[in-house]
Amino acid sequence: MSASGQTNSDPWTKLQHELDRWTASGETATFWWRDDDAVEETPQLHALDALSKEMKAPVSVAIIPAQLHASLPQFLQKRDNFIALQHGYSHRSYAAKGAKKIELGGERSTEEIQDELRTGRLQLLAALGEQFLPVLVPPWNRIESRIYYELVNAGFTGLSTMWARDSAYLLSGLLQVNTHLDPVNWRRDRGFIGEVSAIEQILRHLSARRLAGGDIAEPSGILTHHLSQNDEVWAFCRTLFEMLDRHPATRWLNAREIWAI
Ligand SMILES: [Zn+2]
Repeated sequence: MSASGQTNSDPWTKLQHELDRWTASGETATFWWRDDDAVEETPQLHALDALSKEMKAPVSVAIIPAQLHASLPQFLQKRDNFIALQHGYSHRSYAAKGAKKIELGGERSTEEIQDELRTGRLQLLAALGEQFLPVLVPPWNRIESRIYYELVNAGFTGLSTMWARDSAYLLSGLLQVNTHLDPVNWRRDRGFIGEVSAIEQILRHLSARRLAGGDIAEPSGILTHHLSQNDEVWAFCRTLFEMLDRHPATRWLNAREIWAI
């Protein structure tokens, strides 16, 4: 971003410098894009599609199986820039009173949760065929560890939550790849968190990957919510994607490449 009057502390300049360091060390900064809460064809889904095509950025939509409307698979199947993942089952919270919202845990038996996840997986597979990957995106990015084994039993090979992963494999056969930038301010007004905070999130992941001992293999994930985000968030995503597109160190990965399915 070269708008006049910006200083070295400008967040876009910082991102530019971080990516330049990737170029200097001969590494490729891989990115991926996850969009949550898809259920049906809407004008916002068309906006997501348009941005993805314009930026040549593949997008993985996390679909809520229990709310799936027939218009969604019809829309997705005509577009190879989309891959479908599973977003829990119903996106309902079963948290104990006063606890943080959680679908995959809380006050339910492990068995009940596994049954629903399996039902959801089969539903999405039937609706989307090979466009669907058995990768689970927990609602609110929250899942209790007692569910990990059940994911493998229910046929999942991937998991995606939020922030840098501790390890690539939570269990043998269950590859975790998370997202690292969420530009929506959920706690306040669901507006934009602002350029400084948003770029800080992605910079934190990029620099940790690059440094010695860092997990360079986990692509940096950008999370969007096409149904909830405002114009400011859309505009930020466009500016960010344009910058990534221009920089020689970057490359988009699609979920199929990430999970090698
Ligand atoms: Zn969600």
